[in-house]
Amino acid sequence: MPAKKKKRAAPKSAAARSKRTSAAKYRAGRGTDPARVRAILKGLDEAYPAATCALTHENAFQLLISTILSAQCTDERVNQVTATLFKKYPNAKAFAYANPSELEQEIRPTGFFRNKTKSIMGASKKIVEEFHGQVPQSMEQLLTLPGVARKTANVVLGTAFGIASGVVVDTHVTRLSRRLDLTKNEDPKKIEQDLMAVIPQARWILFSHQLIWHGRRVCQARKPKCIDCNLAKLCYSKDKTV
Ligand code: SF4
Repeated sequence: MPAKKKKRAAPKSAAARSKRTSAAKYRAGRGTDPARVRAILKGLDEAYPAATCALTHENAFQLLISTILSAQCTDERVNQVTATLFKKYPNAKAFAYANPSELEQEIRPTGFFRNKTKSIMGASKKIVEEFHGQVPQSMEQLLTLPGVARKTANVVLGTAFGIASGVVVDTHVTRLSRRLDLTKNEDPKKIEQDLMAVIPQARWILFSHQLIWHGRRVCQARKPKCIDCNLAKLCYSKDKTV
């Protein structure tokens, strides 16, 4: 019988070779190499030099309310709702003693309106009764407000007061930090700790906004537009499409 011909493996495509090289880098744990982190920050600066919060607000209190409303909701929808909401409720006192059923209906389009009403009224009451009507400016105090966790507190401190007390970790920052191999964690608190360890503190506020903008415009959840991504050379995510 003639000897069976050994099957030859199909030649690896350039994309497959690139992914293999990337995987090797990943294993080598180069994700948070300072030079690589600097290159990511430079790329973000080039793409989004003026990234900022997309929630419309005129002061820290309005930003706090908008951020509570933005949970599981788009910023556009929140802005539509607050355009009339802030006219009816101009300050913390107005929200604190609102009619809960009315407020529920007014914020209904943002979803989870019952819980959000409780958070908004509870936080407003505490601001009126314990903080003289002013939004507190420390993480510790902000976390005592009903419905306020680190993400909301970081948004308010960073955007309204320019205080870099942490990194905002929302759905975009979670996804992008993992894709860019700046963390391997899934829990927002751990992701924030990982980011705070590798991103210079002076960059925490802008970095959060830039990552959120990149997540909305380019590195989208289902179909990242890697072809348009200026970080593509630095990215070796399994989700990468180029
Ligand atoms: S290359 Fe693709 S997956 Fe990587 S950061 Fe850019 S858009 Fe996201």
